[in-house]
This record gives sequence, structure tokens and C-alpha cells, in this order.
Amino acid sequence: MALKVLLPVALRHLTGNQDEVDLNGKDVGEVMNELVNRFPELKTHLFNENGQIRNFVNIYRNDEDVRYLDNDQTSVKEGDIISIVPSIAGGSLESINDTYSNMELSKNEIERYSRHLIMPEVGMEGQKRLKATKILLIGTGGLGAPLGLYLAAAGVGTLGLVDFDVVDFSNLQRQIIHSTADVGRPKLESAQEKILAINPNVKVETYNAALRSDNALDIIKDYDVVIDGTDNFPTRYLVNDACVLLDKPNVYGSIFRFEGQASVFYAKEGPCYRCLYPEPPPPGLVPSCAEGGVLGILPGIIGLIQATEGIKLALGKGQSLVGRLVLYDALAMKFRELKLRKNPKCVVCGENPTVTQLIDYEQFCGVTPELGPNVDLSEDSGEITPAELKSVLDSGEKLTILDVREPHEYEISSLSNSILIPLGQLPSRMNELNRQDNIVVHCKMGGRSAKAVELMKQAGFNQVKNLTGGINRWAEEVDPSLPRY
Ligand code: ZN
Repeated sequence: MALKVLLPVALRHLTGNQDEVDLNGKDVGEVMNELVNRFPELKTHLFNENGQIRNFVNIYRNDEDVRYLDNDQTSVKEGDIISIVPSIAGGSLESINDTYSNMELSKNEIERYSRHLIMPEVGMEGQKRLKATKILLIGTGGLGAPLGLYLAAAGVGTLGLVDFDVVDFSNLQRQIIHSTADVGRPKLESAQEKILAINPNVKVETYNAALRSDNALDIIKDYDVVIDGTDNFPTRYLVNDACVLLDKPNVYGSIFRFEGQASVFYAKEGPCYRCLYPEPPPPGLVPSCAEGGVLGILPGIIGLIQATEGIKLALGKGQSLVGRLVLYDALAMKFRELKLRKNPKCVVCGENPTVTQLIDYEQFCGVTPELGPNVDLSEDSGEITPAELKSVLDSGEKLTILDVREPHEYEISSLSNSILIPLGQLPSRMNELNRQDNIVVHCKMGGRSAKAVELMKQAGFNQVKNLTGGINRWAEEVDPSLPRY
């Protein structure tokens, strides 16, 4: 049977830089034997002295891990793809190898971590490795909350926290590191307090800032592992590129409504985020959690998958999620796994990278930076603030208010006399509106309505404005009796 074998980056120097090889065989064993016959230097990397596949090498037949199958179950057919995916074996994170042997555990720490110390996979060495490990959490929100709590409890020595937000009442449904009494406090302060209450041995470093191109490399460079708990595309690409440039593993997680994803992007060993998603979706196409919602429990599951990967990287144990994307569907209660390949043409981790320093990620993702409160809104800016809208309404001027949210959001809060046409229906229902009218469009926070204004202008509506900050800002600044959500 003729089939292809895909080789990982780490082994290509032994195959004359070939990333795939055409081979023949009737089962996986035969194919592997033919592979090492052709490239004898691969043998010691793939097989141990007993002729068995080394336990840090995964062999996939198409998407199936065949390492543990009996020989009679590993037959191959024409066109199959065999992938060799080495996991990051112990010792890959040199920064931890260099430092853990200097660590000592106090009597108190030995008691605290006794359930780890009696596990052969952790033991004294593993616990010292955890103590030597520095993990950076980008964000202390939905994903960062369980991450921070569990990594601290497990004894990770240094936790860096990056956040600039304050705890909002609507965060409490999922961000379990913050309590009701913390509403209004900086998230960093609240998270640091909880982490130290669980484990005072942890060193917490806080960065009270948004991660940006001009501070990311400086913040990330001292950490062994980066865990991405952000909720927006510019920061995701920024974290990815910074990690590729600095050779750091980036433990990825994302959540939306009932679904989550997790992987480990580590360009040294496998693909990066850009190999998976070379370009961000256009703004507005994929709603954020703030716009689309998220099941409160979901970040717990995905965040703890990330925490598990962080701990495994620190210990140098197990098979990491490098090269694999885990998809979780809470409604169906199903986990699926996809195999990811490194894209040789990837602009940041490929063979000829064009992104060799950090770029402007807001611009890359087509996001206009949010307008601050002091921005001058001139007549033709296409925006109207809640205060300005209120004075127009108070003056009795005739105005149509168009709400482009979903009906279940309209039930939470709405402006009086507004017309509801969800954004998705707007193109087909625009004839319900009058082009001569003065129209103000709003949604929850201003994102979808900006899209609606654009669509309407293209359709010939000239007197249409976007309510800056949406109904939530209206509730904050004009009508506090309305709930914010
Ligand atoms: Zn890449």
C-alpha cells in the first residue's frame, strides 16, 4: 500500500529536511520499519533498545493514535497518512531544568503537597520543578480564574497575572476567583488575594496593563509557560507571535456559549495559532462572549485543561496538546480531537517568516480601538453618545431608534419606542425603515450596531448614527434603572 508519512520538525534534520515521505507497507509496523531503513538515524529517536516505539512518540494513522493498538489492528490502506508526533518530553523546557535542582521544599510544603509527592510521576523532583516554574496568565477572567486557583494550589512557584480590568457584577457568573464583595475592585488585586489565601508560598507578579506590542516581549520573556486566557483576537495573535519569537509554549483556550477549544502552541515542536488560523475573522462576524454569552461552567472545564497542560509542561511528563486541538461541546457532552499540522508557509513560525517582530494587532484584526470618554464626536462621526441621544429625545425631535440585538436580549432591557430588527435579519428587512428618517442604531455595546450602520449607509441611509457603548452605556450614564448585562 502506498501512503505518506509526515515527519515532525524535530526530526527533519535526520531526513534531509523532508517533511513527508512516500512509503509502502501493509501495516504501521512495516511502514515504520521501512522509514528507519531509509533514514537509519531516525531509529534511535523513534525506537527504544527493545525495538518498541519510544513512549514520547505518538504515531497516528490519519486522526487515530495507533500506538496502543495490537499489531493486527494497525493495517493501513492506500492513501492513509501516518503522522509521527513527538510529545514534549521531560527536559524540553530548559529554563526549568536549569533551576529546579536548586529548589528546596520546607516541611510545611512537604505536608501541603504530600498527595503529589507520593505519585511517581510527580514526586520530590516534580514538586521542585513546579516550584521552579514561572507561569504567566494573560487575563484573570473566565479562564484565568480556575487557572489561577488550581495552579496556585498545585504549587507552581511563580504566577504572573496580566489584567487591567475591574471586577464587574456580570463577571461573577463564571470568574470564580472574584467574590461579590470584589465588585469594582481591580481584578489583579482580587485574584492576587485569593491566590495567596490558598497558597502563600506562591510568588505572584502582577502587571496592571493590557498586553500590547510594546510591553508583551518584556513581560513574557521571564516566564517558562504562557497561558492565554484572553477573549479577543488582537491579544490572541499578539500572545501567539510573542511566544513564537521568544520560543515559549503558549497554552491556548477559548470559550463561546457551550463550546470550548484547547491546544498547546509551541513552534519549536509543532504548529502555532497562526498555522491553525492564519487570519482573524472580520470584526463583528464572531461575537465575543460579552456579545454572544458563555455558559458559566465552561471556562472551568477549558481553564482546567489549560492548567493540566501547564502542569505537564512543568513536570515534563505525558503527551502534551502540541499538534492537537481539543474541541469540547457541553450540550452534547462530547470531546473531539483534531490533529494540527505546522504550516511551512506560516508567516511567523514557517520556514521563511515575514513577521519577525510584533505588529499592530488591532489593525491586523481590523478592530477600531474603543472610543474613550473624551473623544470629540463631530457631526459626521456616525456616532452619538447616550447623553447626546437623551438631549435629542428630550427636545422632542423625531427620531427612530433601531435595536439590532436578539429578542432574548430585548427582554433583558430595551429603549422605549425602539424597533427590534436583529442584525442577521437587517439586510432583508431594511424596507421596514424609512431612508428619510433620523435613525439611531444600538445593540448591547456598540459592535453589532456599528456593523448595522455600515450596512445601512451602503443601502442609502444617510441620517443614521451608532449609539456609542450601546444600551449598557445608556444604562450606566442615562437610565440606571435599566439592568446592564
Ligand atoms: Zn505557525
